Amino acid sequence: MIGRGSPIETVLGDNAKGHKSKKRTAIVEGLKLRTVEDLLLHHPRRFLKTGELTRVDDLELGQLISVVGEIVKSDSNTYRERRTGAIAYRHDTLVRTDGPALRISFFAKRLHIAEWYVKRLPIGAKGIFTGQVGRFGNEWQLTNPSMVMFSDDAAQTGELGTISPKELPPLYPIYPLTRGVSSWDIYRAVRFALSVVDDMPEVIPAQLREHYRLPDVDTALRLIHGPADFDEVAAARRRFRFAEALVTQLVLARRREAHRRLGAAARPGRTGGLVDAFEQRLPFTLTQGQLDVRGEIFDDLAQPVPMNRLLQGEVGSGKTVVALDAMLRVIDSGAQAALLAPTEVLAQQHHRALSHLLGDLGRGGMLGASSEATTLTLLTGSMPQSAKRQALLEIASGEAGIVVGTHALLQDRVSFADLGLVVVDEQHRFGVEQRAALTDKAGTPPHVLVMTATPIPRSVAMTVFGDLEVSTLTELPAGRGTTQTNVVPLAEQPLWVDRVWQRVREEVAAGHQAYVVCPRISGDVSEVGSHDAPEIDADGELVEPDSVGGLTAVEELTPLLAEGALSETRVAALHGRMSGEEKDRIMRAFSSGDLDVLVSTTVIEVGVDVPNATTMVVMDADRFGISQLHQLRGRVGRGGHPGLCLLVTRLESDRPARDRLDAVARTTDGFALSRVDLEQRHEGDVLGAAQSGFRTGLHSLRVLRDEATILEAREGAETLLAADPDLSTHAELLAAIAELERSGASDFMEKS
Ligand code: ADP
Ligand code: MG
Repeated sequence: MIGRGSPIETVLGDNAKGHKSKKRTAIVEGLKLRTVEDLLLHHPRRFLKTGELTRVDDLELGQLISVVGEIVKSDSNTYRERRTGAIAYRHDTLVRTDGPALRISFFAKRLHIAEWYVKRLPIGAKGIFTGQVGRFGNEWQLTNPSMVMFSDDAAQTGELGTISPKELPPLYPIYPLTRGVSSWDIYRAVRFALSVVDDMPEVIPAQLREHYRLPDVDTALRLIHGPADFDEVAAARRRFRFAEALVTQLVLARRREAHRRLGAAARPGRTGGLVDAFEQRLPFTLTQGQLDVRGEIFDDLAQPVPMNRLLQGEVGSGKTVVALDAMLRVIDSGAQAALLAPTEVLAQQHHRALSHLLGDLGRGGMLGASSEATTLTLLTGSMPQSAKRQALLEIASGEAGIVVGTHALLQDRVSFADLGLVVVDEQHRFGVEQRAALTDKAGTPPHVLVMTATPIPRSVAMTVFGDLEVSTLTELPAGRGTTQTNVVPLAEQPLWVDRVWQRVREEVAAGHQAYVVCPRISGDVSEVGSHDAPEIDADGELVEPDSVGGLTAVEELTPLLAEGALSETRVAALHGRMSGEEKDRIMRAFSSGDLDVLVSTTVIEVGVDVPNATTMVVMDADRFGISQLHQLRGRVGRGGHPGLCLLVTRLESDRPARDRLDAVARTTDGFALSRVDLEQRHEGDVLGAAQSGFRTGLHSLRVLRDEATILEAREGAETLLAADPDLSTHAELLAAIAELERSGASDFMEKS
């Protein structure tokens, strides 16, 4: 009996079974498919529409065609590229089709790719070729088509002796592959497995399948591996994604419950404490939005269950003031608060900002401080030993009311007297692991407030961060200057770069300051990593390498500016390879106006607050993402003076990255830009470290794309748990939950 647990050999074709078979090794080692179940859960990545195979008789120039055929002639040639004079390779084949034969040519710049073509395209090989038809003399020709080759052994065994489009399924599945395995190999094994295996577990209870109109597991497997049309593919995919989402949401729901049961200390605050004293001294009144969010946070803090709240709002929307209110509330309740920043520069910046906002309320224990005053303590990795010791002492004794720091706060030897609240700035740069580590430092879980200027979709908040409640600040405090953003296209207007430095000189002459941001620190190529090797992706298609050389670097541009266009101004460099002390010194000099122009990497991206800075120049701006550019731009126009942001690019206007720059120049609505950005980017960038575990742990679920499915699954999970808290009537679901928890793939999920 072949079942889902059987080794994969049991369903492989004869010449892939053997002990030493290369194909078998490739499938087991390369694709990590060990059992028949692994194979059935290895889903096609895309499908080729064979119903639309074209006959070669009746073509038009430029038409997109797909043909099935057999290679009857195969020659490699070399030639010299006209432009560069370099040796290049051309592989010419003649392919016999249903109708007339077709000439198909493959061009390659590098020898190993040419060799790969030789191997892939022997006489007698058969496959499907898709591309735009062109002319070569009197003949029709395809150039560098995409192709699916049927494997050699299929040809040898005569299984496809005479290929006719009729023998292929209407949608031919293309599987994620590895070297030495073809889609055809997988397809055949899957067909066989589907005809004999009937014990795949059904994790979705019938009541949910019915309610959400999902096919059962056997139907879905048949649909995904051999669909009649794309609706069937969609139905099957939805079912598998729902199943994964359901298991994930059940794991989360159970952890949430356990976490809530641990409880937290309620921090209700008091009247006449620090919060009141602080708000009396603020030189402005809080906006209605700030008051509302503050109310939500204070309500949470007063509960004996841990708060887990996300505070999102544009750069400059006033999140920091609200977060400080929350911290003071906790101090008013007799406990401590910690603020974690993603980098040391930002931690120092936060420390300065809080210290400025608090005034003498932050100088507890010092002569002349007010009686309610608390102590604000900074702890970073690069502080001198003695200062560190002093900080650790203050933290452990409880003297420090607010502790600001980076990862250094997570080290074992930092212990808090009574940690009541953790505020995390920019969660997406701060791994969930770190948050969990800090949580472990408190006896009972502390309340957690996450601040971000990049809105996080609800599905992400729920799945990756467990169960974040979301508060949003939508209005900017009044009196904020506006920032004008312009794209400076050097490809079309090479001389405009002089205008850029001219503008910087004008701003400096008017008493203002400027940032110049570069994508790299030095001209050293190894910094970026070399992508120069061409790659062949899982479908056997060539991926042309990205070229990376020549990006503007801080260490190259700074001396050029200092001795050239900006020689009359005070210019300095700032980047992540400098020591903490050096960075701090430069940042302080810039803050206090002793420097006019700061040439830096994106270390200044978040939180840096120098109100007198009015101009930002971003070099090779096409190298940055939308949200990043928006964050960067938020550094200027803060002091009531209008800001200017110049996005310098060398890209031609028809490149997609130029659209991103135009979008940033067009609108200052950060939430609108974030949405554009989230849709374009890979989620890994959004989720940071948390995502890597997520990708490997789960098969097909993507938190952004599958938001609707995740929300449904969460609702379904709650329905199930309400009726049967232990899931005792759902054995297969319990097994799937246990497996997810055991795999460690769930570690990214709620730990706090
Ligand atoms: P965020 O943390 O969201 O980037 P901040 O809290 O740092 O924003 O606020 C940005 C600037 O606006 C700070 O200088 C802050 O003092 C000021 N600010 C905050 N709230 C208000 C308000 N209600 N009215 C006027 N200025 C405010
Ligand atoms: Mg801030």
